[in-house]
Amino acid sequence: MLYISTRDTSERKEKVTSEVAVCRGIAPDGGLYVPEYIPTLSADTLRSFINMDYPSRAAYILSLFFDGMAYEELLSMCRTAYSDDRFPGGAAPLVHISGPMYSLELWHGPTCAFKDMALQIMPHLFTASLRATGEKRTAYILVATSGDTGKAALEGYRDVPGVRIKVFYPTNGVSRVQKLQMMTQEGDNVSVCAIEGNFDDAQSGVKRIFADAGINRRLDDKGYFLSSANSINWGRLAPQIAYYVSAYCDLVSAGVISMGDVADICVPTGNFGNILAAYIAKRMGVPIRRLVCASNANNVLTDFIASGTYDRNRTFYTTMSPSMDILISSNLERLLYFVAGPAETSAYMKSLAETGRYTVAPETLAKIKGDFAGYYVDEPGTAATIKRVYETSGYLADPHTAVGIGGADEYLRCQKDGCSAPIIVCSTASPFKFAADVYRSLTGRDPSDEVSALGELSELTGKEIPQPLSRTLKLPLRHTRVIPTKDMPDEIFVGL
Ligand SMILES: *Cc1c(COP(=O)(O)O)cnc(C)c1O
Repeated sequence: MLYISTRDTSERKEKVTSEVAVCRGIAPDGGLYVPEYIPTLSADTLRSFINMDYPSRAAYILSLFFDGMAYEELLSMCRTAYSDDRFPGGAAPLVHISGPMYSLELWHGPTCAFKDMALQIMPHLFTASLRATGEKRTAYILVATSGDTGKAALEGYRDVPGVRIKVFYPTNGVSRVQKLQMMTQEGDNVSVCAIEGNFDDAQSGVKRIFADAGINRRLDDKGYFLSSANSINWGRLAPQIAYYVSAYCDLVSAGVISMGDVADICVPTGNFGNILAAYIAKRMGVPIRRLVCASNANNVLTDFIASGTYDRNRTFYTTMSPSMDILISSNLERLLYFVAGPAETSAYMKSLAETGRYTVAPETLAKIKGDFAGYYVDEPGTAATIKRVYETSGYLADPHTAVGIGGADEYLRCQKDGCSAPIIVCSTASPFKFAADVYRSLTGRDPSDEVSALGELSELTGKEIPQPLSRTLKLPLRHTRVIPTKDMPDEIFVGL
């Protein structure tokens, strides 16, 4: 399996191995790497998954996209990444909410958010790729985070040989719990630093460091090269395909549907990475009928799916589902490529960079509408969904998951034909990770403070605080530096 750039319009495309795609992250022309074809899964293969555990299913899917690596090697990576130790509640359990709705819980990992599903396995793929390409230097991973990604990357890369990682976060731009998760991070190759600025400042600071030839040369002299862990990297996307395949098989093995029957999938969406993985699963042959893209008040994708115009020139809202507060969904570029090809994709991305907007061709929009539906849930709607779902079915949802459930509700209401199919909603974070907002949504009252909210929510609902979060509250603070944004370039040399 070779990979090409979403923007490569030349006749003789540059094709690279999966290892090179993972090491580079982004293609030299600014495009994203995509597999040159989408492999297919036969009904027999799907049937054979039914009696397999999650690591075996995931290793099989990964082996289709990383065919330079042996299945046994991938299986051993998956057994480590998705072990009961790291995912005590199971890697991707499917839980019934009510009626046709099922929750695919992706947050039983070490940071209690779905990014663990990719970031626990990605370091294995990354180091195997470094080995395969003959890289001798140490990878220096730089991350700017608004919360969930930074912690998940730290947990994934901690104590991985040949890697060092530094995370920058806005000191006033993440929740108290997220801050504690990062300040208490363990591991000998990790460091975390807060900046006096917002997420955009952190992000721009990191981008400037990547683009600075002088910094890159100094790092090279010391035996390092810069790398990133964000969701444009194929090594983060591929592992996400596996849980959609797995969830479908779980519906079959639970007797909810028969092999071959359709199911819908609803994904609370920010950067479009998670839902793109579902789209690829559909293209591989998993009988997925509709992909429902659920957004919060930052509903740029809802408008895009309805009208064909993507326009980032709009008000930015800070919501209680902060991991979806995004106006540029980078992975949409991969969908455009699969639907419309590289020439259209390049033109749209150029227009996005220059004007902040683009409108896709009518045929392109028609194809997208054939696979996707888009709905959004505003802040009062999110709070009301948390309360209603808990009171009617006992299911406790975090605000991101609630956006997914609210979007799925809206989708079911709009289905005219009444042809029912189960709908799988991605549950992307533990309710305890956003305990204060969940508590407020349920009771209409403020908790004593953001940290006590975990205990108060547990008392109110009788549900247990996940162990990684309760442990975080007891660990000593190890990373307390706060620096001005302009000092970021110096900061990366501290301790080298
Ligand atoms: C990152 C994140 C999302 C959004 O996923 P994308 O792949 O960016 O669309 C949703 N919910 C939570 C909790 C997240 O951390």
